Amino acid sequence: MKHVFGPVSSRRLGQSLGVDVLPPKSCTWNCLYCQLGRTRECVTERREFFPREEILEEIRQAIGNPHAIDWITFVGSGETTLYKGLGWLIGETKKITDIPVAVITNGSLLSVEEVRQELLHADAVLPSLNAGSPELFMRIDRPAAGFSYERHVEGLVEFRNVYRGKLWIEVMLIDGLNDSVEALQDIAGALEKIRPDTVHLVLPTRPSGDADVRLPSDEAVARARLVLSRVAKVVHPAKGSMSLRDPGDIIETVASITRRHPLQEHELRHALDELLPDEPGRVGRIIEQLLESGRFKTVTLPDNEVYWVPARES
Ligand code: SF4
Repeated sequence: MKHVFGPVSSRRLGQSLGVDVLPPKSCTWNCLYCQLGRTRECVTERREFFPREEILEEIRQAIGNPHAIDWITFVGSGETTLYKGLGWLIGETKKITDIPVAVITNGSLLSVEEVRQELLHADAVLPSLNAGSPELFMRIDRPAAGFSYERHVEGLVEFRNVYRGKLWIEVMLIDGLNDSVEALQDIAGALEKIRPDTVHLVLPTRPSGDADVRLPSDEAVARARLVLSRVAKVVHPAKGSMSLRDPGDIIETVASITRRHPLQEHELRHALDELLPDEPGRVGRIIEQLLESGRFKTVTLPDNEVYWVPARES
């Protein structure tokens, strides 16, 4: 399995070299909004799913290529901290490069001392907090048995107490679920205890397959910014875009991105236009070749946005 992908343009981390340390899909939660589809069976035991040296070697090779990389980002096809060698990988990566290291996580295992210790040397940790009450937490994040809301918040608080890097909490705002004044005040109450450096407000712009997951209104986004900014600086990143830097391996690059999340067709076209500014005809041919490869299919949502997903997905 190829673990390293990108660099891709990330909403929060600029040019981010992704490192996926998990087999899909391995997660402690089964979020309503998950872009990876349903968690068929939650995974709760940490394991070294792949040899750590194999992953480190891929990172070493990737940073040897002449690409601009702002962050090396550990992100799993599921919950990243389920990978047992994560602390070792962070430490070894920092020995071979000065590029800062980030970890994207749902934060569910921060209640475990070993996991908190392993993340201490990351430059930024980005856990999730989507609810301010046990009821909404169960409804939105649908965790494995034993992963209660109280345990989640306590883990985040305990981590904050020992972590000196950047703690950026991600709040996924979902229409009709956590975007009311009351729900947002509850989230703000939990954030007050956690004391993050910033809160990243994100929206379910990618298809999850669940009809209950709808984009919040502009008014709800403004409300969330207002309520949560009483506790921490709120960043509402612009919609992401991808970038392609190597025309030689476009099929593999697109495959590595769509394996992790559906790709908006306009993002793909924009990235190809940027890569081949003097060859507009070639962009159309590449799109055709990608479709003819049989590895992708397109899905059109009710708002007419077209997404690319792996052909095997339903
Ligand atoms: S924590 Fe992330 S990977 Fe796991 S179910 Fe939720 S959105 Fe999906």
